[in-house]
Amino acid sequence: MTDIAIIGGGITGLSLALNLHRRGIACRVYERASEVKELGVGITLLPHAMREFAALGVSEQLLAAGIENAESCFFNRFGQLIYKEPRGKLAGYPHPEVGIHRGRLHLILHGAACAALGPDRIRTDRTCVDLAQDAEGVTIAFTETSTGRSAEPVRARAAIACDGINSVVRKRFHPDDDVAFAGINTWRGVTRMKPILTGRSYMRIGSILTGKIVVYPIVDDVDGAGTQLVNWMAEIKQDALAKKNDWNRPGDPADFLPIYESWRFDWLDVPAMIRKADFVLEYPMVDKDPIGQWSFGRVTLAGDAAHPMYPRGSNGAAQGAIDARTLADCLAAGPDVPAALKAYEEARREATARIVRTNREHPPDFINIKVEELTGDRPFDDLDAYITQDELRALSESYKRIAGFSLASPGT
Ligand SMILES: Cc1cc2nc3c(=O)[nH]c(=O)nc-3n(C[C@H](O)[C@H](O)[C@H](O)COP(=O)(O)OP(=O)(O)OC[C@H]3O[C@@H](n4cnc5c(N)ncnc54)[C@H](O)[C@@H]3O)c2cc1C
Repeated sequence: MTDIAIIGGGITGLSLALNLHRRGIACRVYERASEVKELGVGITLLPHAMREFAALGVSEQLLAAGIENAESCFFNRFGQLIYKEPRGKLAGYPHPEVGIHRGRLHLILHGAACAALGPDRIRTDRTCVDLAQDAEGVTIAFTETSTGRSAEPVRARAAIACDGINSVVRKRFHPDDDVAFAGINTWRGVTRMKPILTGRSYMRIGSILTGKIVVYPIVDDVDGAGTQLVNWMAEIKQDALAKKNDWNRPGDPADFLPIYESWRFDWLDVPAMIRKADFVLEYPMVDKDPIGQWSFGRVTLAGDAAHPMYPRGSNGAAQGAIDARTLADCLAAGPDVPAALKAYEEARREATARIVRTNREHPPDFINIKVEELTGDRPFDDLDAYITQDELRALSESYKRIAGFSLASPGT
């Protein structure tokens, strides 16, 4: 019998494999994709994500492949600076904050997992379609993704569903479960351009009420002449477009470019950046309502399968990696698998539900929304007349506390 079967070889599944391996627990990963490719755009790894990846021995590789953020800046849609703060090590954290290409992050974790466990333990081309359990173990049914034919079933001591937001395992235990769309559409792209501001700045411009764009660099010097690969994500409240969430769906700039046409600042020309993008992807901002149970006997959920959240706190990968470490610790604590899975759920379910709710109600860009309200969505002469820098700092700190990366009160 395979010791632990991990369903899904994304950020959470690979982090779990590495965590289990470090604790001497045998496992295998079953991934739907037929091959591992560099897909997608950028992702930000906050210091608590980098703490988890440092413990897995990959932080130096991640830092070398990405860009260490120096500052986080908030602007209104007229390009005026509202607030900025240092980030990562520059803010006193023991770990950096890193912007990185999602595909590079995935390849680094995949390479580390193959090196540690052996490539035969990371099985691609396997789509989990069902599972059943008895007192001794779990039997997992797979199809071969490339052909659609049934593959040999797997018997394991436990099955951990790391199969993402559209998890089939979660659906099996919660049949009515579905994604929640709150009317925000997003478009993402990467553009080759000269460094903006410090070249290590994370920028949030505008608000979702009137149009917002988040911009940060993810790869340095792509051409030997100092050009960076810059990741951007446009977010707009717009009820019409709730399509199925597929991270790789192509987007059409005509659907959102008109909103940004006048956003030409002396430090960034937003419409030019969008027009010069290598490609544009579209994604509805979705999450799921927190659920009351993750662990069912020898089966549990982790990462986005357990707690998909709006991607506007840069926190999903960190929470998946923390799940992986917590679950591995619980499994290493003793031989009783159902008890270990329950202990893991107790440690993580409410903590992550709080983040899901906060990302809906008071995300970090709440700062931009607040200033837009206070100034009547007009350029300001003296921001202090509306809100002080101390008040803005307090808003930023409050998000960090709930999201688990406050320096003053660190999370789990
Ligand atoms: C647009 C966007 C931007 C984001 N930006 C950030 C960010 O800046 N910072 C951050 O920390 N987080 C960010 N996130 C969130 C982060 O990407 C996710 O939280 C993270 O990828 C979750 O990892 P996961 O492994 O749990 O799920 P996934 O990454 O979804 O991986 C699931 C894996 O399971 C596989 N799979 C699916 N179904 C099956 C099946 N039936 N059988 C076998 N395998 C299966 C999939 O192929 C995939 O490899 C963002 C998310 C989105 C959508």
